Amino acid sequence: MPNCPECTAREKKKIQAKYEEDTPEEDRGRDDLFKLFDEIDFPMKMDSATKHFICKRCGLYATREQVSDIRYKLNQRERTREDKQDDYLEWWQKSKKDKELN
Ligand SMILES: [Zn+2]
Repeated sequence: MPNCPECTAREKKKIQAKYEEDTPEEDRGRDDLFKLFDEIDFPMKMDSATKHFICKRCGLYATREQVSDIRYKLNQRERTREDKQDDYLEWWQKSKKDKELN
Protein backbone atom coordinates (compact mmCIF):
# COMPACT_ATOMS: atom_id res chain seq x y z
CA MET A 1 0.00 0.00 0.00
CA PRO A 2 1.29 3.47 -0.75
CA ASN A 3 2.15 5.83 2.06
CA CYS A 4 -0.20 8.76 2.49
CA PRO A 5 1.54 11.65 0.70
CA GLU A 6 -0.03 14.32 2.93
CA CYS A 7 0.91 12.65 6.19
CA THR A 8 4.36 11.80 4.85
CA ALA A 9 5.03 15.40 3.85
CA ARG A 10 3.84 16.65 7.21
CA GLU A 11 5.96 14.11 9.06
CA LYS A 12 9.02 14.98 6.95
CA LYS A 13 8.69 18.60 7.99
CA LYS A 14 8.45 17.57 11.63
CA ILE A 15 11.44 15.23 11.40
CA GLN A 16 13.50 17.87 9.65
CA ALA A 17 12.68 20.51 12.26
CA LYS A 18 13.60 18.14 15.07
CA TYR A 19 16.77 17.07 13.28
CA GLU A 20 17.85 20.66 12.83
CA GLU A 21 17.07 21.36 16.45
CA ASP A 22 19.04 18.36 17.72
CA THR A 23 21.96 18.43 15.32
CA PRO A 24 24.46 21.27 15.05
CA GLU A 25 24.70 22.61 11.55
CA GLU A 26 28.20 21.25 10.88
CA ASP A 27 27.10 17.70 11.80
CA ARG A 28 24.06 17.65 9.57
CA GLY A 29 23.98 15.36 6.58
CA ARG A 30 21.40 14.94 3.90
CA ASP A 31 21.77 11.14 4.07
CA ASP A 32 21.02 11.08 7.79
CA LEU A 33 17.87 13.00 7.15
CA PHE A 34 16.87 10.69 4.29
CA LYS A 35 17.41 7.70 6.57
CA LEU A 36 14.96 9.22 9.03
CA PHE A 37 12.53 9.90 6.19
CA ASP A 38 12.75 6.21 5.21
CA GLU A 39 11.25 5.21 8.53
CA ILE A 40 8.07 7.15 7.86
CA ASP A 41 5.23 4.70 7.57
CA PHE A 42 1.68 5.82 6.89
CA PRO A 43 0.23 3.06 4.73
CA MET A 44 -3.16 3.82 3.25
CA LYS A 45 -6.03 1.38 3.19
CA MET A 46 -7.52 0.16 -0.05
CA ASP A 47 -11.25 0.43 -0.49
CA SER A 48 -11.75 -2.43 -2.93
CA ALA A 49 -15.30 -1.39 -3.79
CA THR A 50 -14.33 2.06 -5.11
CA LYS A 51 -10.63 1.34 -5.86
CA HIS A 52 -9.67 4.33 -3.78
CA PHE A 53 -7.00 4.59 -1.12
CA ILE A 54 -7.98 5.93 2.26
CA CYS A 55 -5.73 7.44 4.92
CA LYS A 56 -7.11 6.67 8.36
CA ARG A 57 -5.02 9.46 9.81
CA CYS A 58 -5.90 12.54 7.76
CA GLY A 59 -8.87 11.21 5.82
CA LEU A 60 -7.32 11.57 2.37
CA TYR A 61 -9.37 9.62 -0.13
CA ALA A 62 -7.83 9.22 -3.56
CA THR A 63 -7.15 6.91 -6.47
CA ARG A 64 -3.68 5.55 -7.08
CA GLU A 65 -3.14 8.22 -9.76
CA GLN A 66 -4.22 10.99 -7.42
CA VAL A 67 -1.91 9.67 -4.71
CA SER A 68 1.08 9.77 -7.04
CA ASP A 69 -0.01 13.17 -8.30
CA ILE A 70 -0.18 14.63 -4.80
CA ARG A 71 3.15 13.07 -3.90
CA TYR A 72 4.71 14.49 -7.07
CA LYS A 73 3.40 17.97 -6.36
CA LEU A 74 4.54 17.92 -2.75
CA ASN A 75 7.99 16.69 -3.76
CA GLN A 76 8.23 19.35 -6.41
CA ARG A 77 7.34 22.10 -3.96
CA GLU A 78 10.09 20.77 -1.70
CA ARG A 79 12.60 20.70 -4.52
CA THR A 80 11.74 24.20 -5.70
CA ARG A 81 12.40 25.54 -2.26
CA GLU A 82 15.76 23.78 -2.08
CA ASP A 83 16.72 25.02 -5.52
CA LYS A 84 15.98 28.55 -4.47
CA GLN A 85 18.17 28.15 -1.42
CA ASP A 86 20.97 26.80 -3.57
CA ASP A 87 20.62 29.70 -5.96
CA TYR A 88 20.73 32.11 -3.10
CA LEU A 89 23.80 30.44 -1.64
CA GLU A 90 25.52 30.54 -4.99
CA TRP A 91 24.65 34.17 -5.45
CA TRP A 92 25.86 34.97 -1.96
CA GLN A 93 29.16 33.17 -2.43
CA LYS A 94 29.71 34.76 -5.79
CA SER A 95 29.00 38.22 -4.50
CA LYS A 96 31.38 37.56 -1.63
CA LYS A 97 34.07 36.51 -4.08
CA ASP A 98 33.40 39.57 -6.20
CA LYS A 99 33.78 41.75 -3.20
CA GLU A 100 37.10 40.12 -2.33
CA LEU A 101 38.35 40.70 -5.86
CA ASN A 102 37.43 44.35 -5.94
ZN1 LIG B 1 -2.85 10.94 5.62
